[in-house]
Amino acid sequence: MAHGGGDLDRRLVAALERAGHVVRTLLWRQAYANGLSPIQTQLLMHLVGRARPPRVGELAAEFDVTMATMSDALAALRRKELVRRDSDPGDRRSHVFSLTETGARLAADLAHWSDPVTGWLAAEPESDKADTLRFLLDLVGRLHDTGVLAVARTCVTCRFFVRDAHDDPARPHHCALLDTPFGDAALRVDCAEHQERDPSKA
Ligand code: SF4
Repeated sequence: MAHGGGDLDRRLVAALERAGHVVRTLLWRQAYANGLSPIQTQLLMHLVGRARPPRVGELAAEFDVTMATMSDALAALRRKELVRRDSDPGDRRSHVFSLTETGARLAADLAHWSDPVTGWLAAEPESDKADTLRFLLDLVGRLHDTGVLAVARTCVTCRFFVRDAHDDPARPHHCALLDTPFGDAALRVDCAEHQERDPSKA
């Protein structure tokens, strides 16, 4: 059976769609089990460990949803006393959002939603996983550079990332912010220190 490159590309997209469906289903199960919507669940986990509490506009951009959708999700989480709203120290007319103690506890529990998948991945070779992570993040980076994905806080879209800066094959990349060499396996998907790079310099 002969398949051209275009066919392989389409099957890759189909496989990504299948994998995405599995991941979404696991997340939705976890969300409904806790009386939350999927976006509320993702928001709680997203607010863990933020160096600076975000505004509603930043969260809407990061989730690729409208301000109204994000405002509704935040209002629901505030009613459940899982999220608090404070004045933005940089601009008193704006507000920033962070987890309450109860919200932080629930977010830690929710983080187990992916255990069925990570449990299977644990037995797979490190090199395969590192190659797959780099491949997927490069795909995310291209989608971001072409405007398909609004926000990506990954190493490959970060202005501090220097690809293949070192001869060491185990740790070829460099983070200029942390001044650290690192390998594909350590590429970050959602880094609190991320700063957007100029796409024309990709
Ligand atoms: S700041 Fe974060 S996202 Fe940027 S290169 Fe360093 S580790 Fe990666």
